[in-house]
Amino acid sequence: MTLSDTSAARTGEAVLAAEGLTKHFPVRRGLADLLARRSRVVHAVDDVTLTLRRGRVTALVGESGSGKSTVARLLSQLYSRTSGDIRLHGRISTVRGGRAFRAYARRVQMIFQDPFASLNPVHTIRYHLTRALRIHGNGGRSRAELEQALHALLTRVSLTPPERYLDKFPHELSGGQRQRVAIARALGADPEVLLADEPVSMLDVSIRLGVLNLLRDLKERLHLAILYITHDIASARYFADETLVMYAGRMVEGGDSETVTQRPAHPYTRLLIESAPDPDTIQGSAQAAAEHTPEDRAGGEPPSLIAPPTGCRFHPRCPAVMPRCSVELPPRLTVGDADGHWAACWLYAPDEVGK
Ligand code: SF4
Repeated sequence: MTLSDTSAARTGEAVLAAEGLTKHFPVRRGLADLLARRSRVVHAVDDVTLTLRRGRVTALVGESGSGKSTVARLLSQLYSRTSGDIRLHGRISTVRGGRAFRAYARRVQMIFQDPFASLNPVHTIRYHLTRALRIHGNGGRSRAELEQALHALLTRVSLTPPERYLDKFPHELSGGQRQRVAIARALGADPEVLLADEPVSMLDVSIRLGVLNLLRDLKERLHLAILYITHDIASARYFADETLVMYAGRMVEGGDSETVTQRPAHPYTRLLIESAPDPDTIQGSAQAAAEHTPEDRAGGEPPSLIAPPTGCRFHPRCPAVMPRCSVELPPRLTVGDADGHWAACWLYAPDEVGK
């Protein structure tokens, strides 16, 4: 059995997992807080549990401010967590910089939203990729081996011929080419996990698909576990195997992408899909659109995360709200239409189903 056969055979194996991941940011205290002797926090992420698997893409979908980028930064350990665990191959991992962080980053790499900001404008592509290869010990022992590794990286992200790009500066490349360089730099570590934070949202629509196809190709050829963070639920259906939905710092729905996008269970996921521009992303969306006024679909503003709503955080906007929703926090409940489909919503509580 070859190495790639072995990796393929392990497709689906859990690589990186979060359990009860929570991040609260302290709010700077004003005069009123000092007088009242109170400290407040932003509940950016509360009790997030997810598993990233070899050779699979997991989409994390939600509005701006829902906490999805904070989850990526927690998983990359750029942020320390308030509570919860991160497990890499089953072992709890907590790193705070230095050699331990570099060892972790060798296995878990992040791709940022803005490829221009993530590349230093005064350095060439050769500099960026050489640095990534050397930091992670993948630059070879000779100049020739380094050159070979540089060419392999650029070829892997379809920037060919590599010599055309190596000595260019970031501003000489298009947005899509810059994001490919950022992906190549991440691959320089030879990682097992890619955390891609809105990797195409700053690119022209015409080149987004090319970058998503590249990530999908890497998932299939290198058997990477990929977290794909996006506010565009339609792209999650196209690109991800599993889709998780976040609202106001909490995960509210999860399941395979086809089920979540075609038969959304949580009222917030339905709202997201009804607001998406692609009318084919959900069965019956035209009927649903006709049944709700635009005001219904807009559904008001996301809540304050300093004083989030009690019970279900979506209850002030929810068209299906019930008395218990503002009091009791709904757990993950099985929807029952497909394996692994769940929603944190009281509509799926056994005592509510069929009412
Ligand atoms: Fe709406 Fe209640 Fe479900 Fe929350 S728990 S989404 S308020 S029905």
